[in-house]
Amino acid sequence: MAAKLYNIAIVGVGEIARNQHIPAILKNGDFKFCAAVSRHQKADGVPNFISLSDMLESDTNVDAVSLCVPPQVRFDMACEALLAKKHVLLEKPPGISVVEVERLIDLANRQGVSLFATWHSRYAAAVETAKQWLSDKRIKSVKIIWKEDVKHWHPGQKWIWQAGGMGVFDPGINALSILTYIMNVPFHLQKAELKFPQNCETPIAADMAFTGENRLEIEAEFDWRQEGAQQWDIYVQTDAGNMHLAEGGSQMLIDGALHFEAPEAEYPNIYARLSDLLNSNQSDVDIMPLKHVADAFMLGKRTIVEQFHDDRSGH
Ligand code: NAP
Repeated sequence: MAAKLYNIAIVGVGEIARNQHIPAILKNGDFKFCAAVSRHQKADGVPNFISLSDMLESDTNVDAVSLCVPPQVRFDMACEALLAKKHVLLEKPPGISVVEVERLIDLANRQGVSLFATWHSRYAAAVETAKQWLSDKRIKSVKIIWKEDVKHWHPGQKWIWQAGGMGVFDPGINALSILTYIMNVPFHLQKAELKFPQNCETPIAADMAFTGENRLEIEAEFDWRQEGAQQWDIYVQTDAGNMHLAEGGSQMLIDGALHFEAPEAEYPNIYARLSDLLNSNQSDVDIMPLKHVADAFMLGKRTIVEQFHDDRSGH
């Protein structure tokens, strides 16, 4: 039997849609890029619409939508698409609150369509190998350092500084998505400090301390003020050596020596997974990374730091 071809539309033609989603869809034979929805931007070679409603009311044949808009506007769009019985892919973070994502899970189930909350960093080249390597070890401690220059990576994006944009947790949740995937014991947040620029609604830096089974200690440092070398590192100390997931999960080292690396294929792997989910009528929504971020906002101490200005956003 011939494999089903799914017509998929992109909603929110911004950075990630242009750089990753559209190229990954075009290279995957299970999907046909059928339409784009964006208020100010257009995608080549497909019908373009200003709103999701316009697309859903048109005669364009759509099976699934990839929501690449900022998280603050994703819930309403996801509901609209699910109610129209479209499968929905959510960029990370899947929502701005835990409960809104739970409502989407419920709605997708009731509508009989698939919901896929993507965590692109989990598809980084060395993450699966790291999970397997850790599976039979006693993990003693973990240190996460996730430090990047927000002006370089998010120029002109106002939404990251507005409530629900999550600030430094926008990249930090990527580290937490890897951590929650590779760890073999449960853990929870014990303490956090969130640093808010005086003129922003979201934090520019955060320090977190978690505790887990068997006296496990986890520390995380997220900072968006990093100049010079950028750092996306997870160091894990075990009873059988030290593992280092470097470069955002694309390289794995054991006791300082390179153990595994492979070419980057996060988004092609995401669309391969989406195809599997659609073919098996399943959903995949893990909200654990979002729960840890919600805990940080709930129990974290708040410190006010120097104002942040980005000339490109007029912020
Ligand atoms: P972006 O460049 O700002 O693009 C988002 C697009 O959504 C905008 O171009 C905008 O297009 C549309 N949009 C609709 N409603 C909007 C609103 N109220 N405010 C702002 N834009 C709105 O953002 P992005 O970097 O692609 O990020 C989108 C999502 O992908 C985020 O959740 C982010 O965490 C995730 N992500 C980003 C990256 C990355 O490297 N950039 C990597 C992985 C995941 P119109 O104005 O044309 O409607």
